[in-house]
Amino acid sequence: MLRDSYNRTIRDLRISLTDRCNFRCFYCLPHGEPSWAKREKLLSFEELEYIADIFVSLGIQKIRLTGGEPLIRRDVPVLVEKLARLKPHLQDIALTTNGYDFARHAESLKNAGLDRVTFSLDSLRPDKFSKITGVDALERVLASIHLAQESGFSPVKLNAVVVRGHNDDELVDFARFAREYGVAMRFIEFMPLDSGHDWNRDHVVSGREIRETINAAFPLVLKETNRGSGTSWKYTFADHSPGEIGIIAPVTEMFCGACSRIRLTADGQIRTCLFSNTEHNLRDVLRSGASRDELVQFIEDVVMKKEPRHHINDAEFVQPQRTMSFIGG
Ligand code: SAM
Ligand code: SF4
Repeated sequence: MLRDSYNRTIRDLRISLTDRCNFRCFYCLPHGEPSWAKREKLLSFEELEYIADIFVSLGIQKIRLTGGEPLIRRDVPVLVEKLARLKPHLQDIALTTNGYDFARHAESLKNAGLDRVTFSLDSLRPDKFSKITGVDALERVLASIHLAQESGFSPVKLNAVVVRGHNDDELVDFARFAREYGVAMRFIEFMPLDSGHDWNRDHVVSGREIRETINAAFPLVLKETNRGSGTSWKYTFADHSPGEIGIIAPVTEMFCGACSRIRLTADGQIRTCLFSNTEHNLRDVLRSGASRDELVQFIEDVVMKKEPRHHINDAEFVQPQRTMSFIGG
């Protein structure tokens, strides 16, 4: 069992497969050419399989594959198949993707044992979608979302990062979309993990405002009064329409006390918090020929260093050097 020094149990591992991306969401990746991790620094699928096996033996129950854009990495279904061998101790394998390349992998991902998929969808208007992501691909992403539903992924979740002045006028449209298509729509507060370091509090649309705006159009009912280690407050529609709304408000409604997550970057660094300013080099320990017991010890020691909370709201807050795309959201 992985437990940190604040007695939080770590059950959820996010693995970034690459820091590269074919989109340029302004809140995540810079325009221009960032300095990507060198290929030899990336953990191979064999290394990831071995590390995941160790993590699962230590009590990790959920693995989410993310990035950068995970589907840019070649043969992701092969990795999913390797991870699926860790079931049933590993209970859930999920993927977060921008959806651009999902269609050609949907079937093989399903067959390989992927349980769930989450798509990023920040606008339902083609022009705005292009402006936010840098790519004219709304139709293609919507087609991926429908395909995921047809392929039996359930529930299909959609993430929208709400940024003032960009897409905060679409909250009700998103809720309507969730109802029409029976998807779980998650609204995420904009976090200071953007490459331009342009984040400021005025850009954040609070979870409360999101909830109130949607509730005024489509009355909501809180699904569970205790969200456990989950990050979102979940709501159903009072009129029993299909679909679900989730609100993830790390800035205005901090949930660090119940955090069960740990992250592994594509270049093999463990991050104990999205906002960590320190990383722990698991790759070098692994490649130095450490035994399994030594790796276990390393991981357990790192987990003990997990921060009690983030400091976004403190005057002395320092934005991490690496942006969301490098950390693995
Ligand atoms: N490329 C994939 C995608 O976009 O779904 C996976 C990686 S992306 C970094 C994972 C999630 O992080 C996305 O849902 C994205 O919207 C979110 N994200 C990125 N930057 C963020 C920020 N500054 N604040 C809040 N969420 C952010
Ligand atoms: Fe790429 Fe995802 Fe970041 Fe957008 S949010 S730039 S799709 S990694």
